[in-house]
Amino acid sequence: MTELLGKKVIVTGGAMGIGLATCRRLVREGCDVTIWDLSQKDLDKAEKELKGKGGNVFPCLCDVSDKESVHELADQAKKDMGQVDILINNAGYVRHGMFWERPVEDAIKQIDVNVNALFYAIHEFLPDMLARNSGHIVNVSSGVAIASAPGLAAYTTSKWAVWGMTDVMRLEVMAAGKNGVKFTSVHPGNIVTGMFEGFKVNAVGRLIAPPVKNHDVIAKGLVEAGLKKNHHLVVRPRSLYLGMILRGLLPDAVLGRIALMLGVGTSVNEFKGRKGYIHSNPETESKK
Ligand code: NAD
Repeated sequence: MTELLGKKVIVTGGAMGIGLATCRRLVREGCDVTIWDLSQKDLDKAEKELKGKGGNVFPCLCDVSDKESVHELADQAKKDMGQVDILINNAGYVRHGMFWERPVEDAIKQIDVNVNALFYAIHEFLPDMLARNSGHIVNVSSGVAIASAPGLAAYTTSKWAVWGMTDVMRLEVMAAGKNGVKFTSVHPGNIVTGMFEGFKVNAVGRLIAPPVKNHDVIAKGLVEAGLKKNHHLVVRPRSLYLGMILRGLLPDAVLGRIALMLGVGTSVNEFKGRKGYIHSNPETESKK
């Protein structure tokens, strides 16, 4: 148990993957955790696993891209937990394929879940955090917001937006003199199983930025570096920081050629993603 003991946290998309791995760590630290997720089945499994392991768990069926639902469940979370100290915007949605080959609705949906949903949730909790001058908002972006990935145009766009949003809101809060409210942007590289299964760069690319072995590597970075040390950026694998440095140093044309030499141009050719992925409101749920 540590400085996180007794903190009240919301984790979106917390019923599996990075979100669930984060919930495991937070519950063990003695946090009360509200989990928002689209999948009732996975919420039930998560609740069963986490119950009795430390802090309280409040599983809630929620489509984070549904503004009304987020509003209602935000009130519910404040009733259940008293207040919200930490908001972790982790839920995410991906579709692959070259932008011009996909229906434009695919792109809009990714912006709805990966970007607009963050506006809804942050708008619900930030005012209380500012009033207390205390709180932490963590947004899960991606490695593709450091090194763009062809075949993931809308997803890449959404994750650059997440990083930009985190950065500018941090400055807004600092400009308002509310230094007690923290922001963290988390940038996972591709994890070998789950949402990005099958995403692959070539051997040189993998040498520079090896795939992440499991979801807990990211959860550990989020909790230990993000929440406990207040790091503004959490990047895993750390070698992805090299992408930021090279972007600052090299002309775009050279950077683009290097990216293609590392195999990013064909990285989604064997993309599998997560099977049976739920990507809409449970009422109108459809499967991949
Ligand atoms: P995952 O598929 O394992 O879990 C995502 C969770 O979000 C699921 O439980 C799903 O039901 C939930 N979810 C999806 N849409 C939702 C919605 N509209 N409302 C509520 N819940 C919803 O994915 P993950 O790998 O744990 O990814 C978590 C975050 O990390 C995402 O934002 C993703 O974009 C990002 N990320 C993942 C990887 C990777 O390789 N897995 C890499 C970079 C970034």
